[in-house]
Amino acid sequence: MTFDRIEDLHRALDSGQTTCAALAEEALRRAESENPGINALAELFGSSARAQAAAVDARRAQGDRRALDGLTMVIKDNMVYQGHAAGASSKILTGFVSPYSATAVQRVLDAGAIIVGRANCDEFAMGSSNETSVYGPARNPLDRNRTPGGSSGGSAAAVAAGWVQAALGSDTGGSIRQPAAFCGIFGAKPTYGRVSRYGLIAYASSFDQIGPFARSAGDLAAITEVLSGSDAFDSTCSDRPVPSMATDGRDPRSLSFGYYQEVLDNPALDPELRAAFMARMESLRAAGHRVEALRFDYLDVLVPIYYILTTAEASANLARFDGVRYGYRAEGVKTLDELYKRSRSEGFGTEVQRRILLGTFVLRSGYFDAYYGKAQKARRAVQDATNADLAKVDLLISPTTPHTAFELGREASDPTVMYLEDIFTVQAPIAGLPALSLPMGLHSNGLPMGLHLTAKAFDEPTLFRAAEYLSS
Ligand code: GLN
Repeated sequence: MTFDRIEDLHRALDSGQTTCAALAEEALRRAESENPGINALAELFGSSARAQAAAVDARRAQGDRRALDGLTMVIKDNMVYQGHAAGASSKILTGFVSPYSATAVQRVLDAGAIIVGRANCDEFAMGSSNETSVYGPARNPLDRNRTPGGSSGGSAAAVAAGWVQAALGSDTGGSIRQPAAFCGIFGAKPTYGRVSRYGLIAYASSFDQIGPFARSAGDLAAITEVLSGSDAFDSTCSDRPVPSMATDGRDPRSLSFGYYQEVLDNPALDPELRAAFMARMESLRAAGHRVEALRFDYLDVLVPIYYILTTAEASANLARFDGVRYGYRAEGVKTLDELYKRSRSEGFGTEVQRRILLGTFVLRSGYFDAYYGKAQKARRAVQDATNADLAKVDLLISPTTPHTAFELGREASDPTVMYLEDIFTVQAPIAGLPALSLPMGLHSNGLPMGLHLTAKAFDEPTLFRAAEYLSS
C-alpha cells in the first residue's frame, strides 16, 4: 500500500486496513529487491525500522496518535542516527557509527516516522548528480540511464520509486529542490535557521538546511512543521514560534507571484521548459492572480558567489576529518603529518578535494579581500535585492532547473558545467529564504519538469499553501 498523503495513510491505519508494521515490511521488501538497479540506498535499517513500527502501532493502540505516525522514510547519508552508520557517501567516514541522533532525525522519530534506511548522496553533499558518491551513482527510477539529481539523489529516488512515502535531504545550493524536480516529486528547503543542523554533517554551515521530500505539498508541510523549531544544540536555529504549516487546498486568491525575465532569457533554459513555465504564468493570471515580471541584475554572479563562499566554509568544516578522530585512517604512515596527508588524500574523492583546495585558496591572506570578502558583500547585495522583490510579491517563481534530468556521465568531466546546474536554485540559500520544487508536468522527452517557489523568510505557511494550490 502506498500513499501520497499522510491523511490517507492515517485513515488506513485508523480503519485497520494496514499497520505500521506492515508498511515497514513492505518498504523494506521493495527497497531490498529494487535497490540493486537504482542504488538509492547505502543501507537498510531493518531491525530498527521494525522495532519503531511495532512501537508506533502499540502507542496508537493506547490512543496516542502523532503527526507522522507510520510515515516510511529514508534519511540522507549525511545526517546521523544513533547506533547507525553514517558516511556522507565518503570513504573517509568508513566504519563510522554515530553515538547520537541529529535533532531532525530524532524529531521525525518522535513524531512516529519509520526510518527504513540511509540514502545515497554526493560525497559530503557536493554535487548535482549523485555521481561523486563512494557507493557509485544513484539512478533515476524514471530512466535508469539518467541522474536522479543531487546531492540528495538517493532520497529523491527512493520516494519517486515508491519504496517510502517521504525522505529527509539537505539543501545547500539546491540539493533537495533539483532532485525533486528531476524525479517528479516535491522537495522543500526551509528558511535558514528554521530547522536545527545538529547532527547534519556540515558542508557549508551558513547555507545548509535539512528538509523533506514527499509526494504532496501537504506532506512537505507536515514534515517541515515537525522538523522546525529552536534547538539548544544549534545556536543558528531560530527560536521563533513555529506556525501551523498545514495546507487547506483552498484557492489562495490573494497571492501574487514575481518571475525574473533574466531567468527566462537565460540561454541555458530549455525552450520547452520555458514554454511550460510561461503557460503556467498565463493560467495563474487567468485565475485572477497577480503575476509580475521583475528584473534581477545578479543572475550571472549567483553561482560564483555560491561556490566561493561554500568552498571556503567547506574547507574549514572538513578540516576535522584528519584520519584520527573518525573513520578512515591511512596505513603504514610514519609521521603525524603523513597520517593527515595520506588519510585525507586517500579518504576524500576528487570533487571534495577540489573544493577544499578552492576554499583554502579563497581564504588565503592576500586573496581574502579579493574573493571571500567580495563574495560576502555580493551575498548581502543579493539578499537585499531578493528581499526587496519579496516586498512587492508574495512569492518568486521560476523553473527549478534549466533542463530535465541529464544522462549519467554527461557532465561529470567538467566541474564548471556541473556548477551551472545550480543557477536557479542558489538564490534562495544565498538569501537564506525558504523555497521548494513541485512537479510542473512532463517534457516531451517524458521526464518531469519542476516549478520553483521562494517565499519570505519564515513564511513557510505561504510557501506550502501556494504549492498545494499549484499542484491541485
Ligand atoms: N550542487 C550544489 C553543490 O554542488 C548544491 C549541493 C547541495 O545543495 N548540497 O554544491
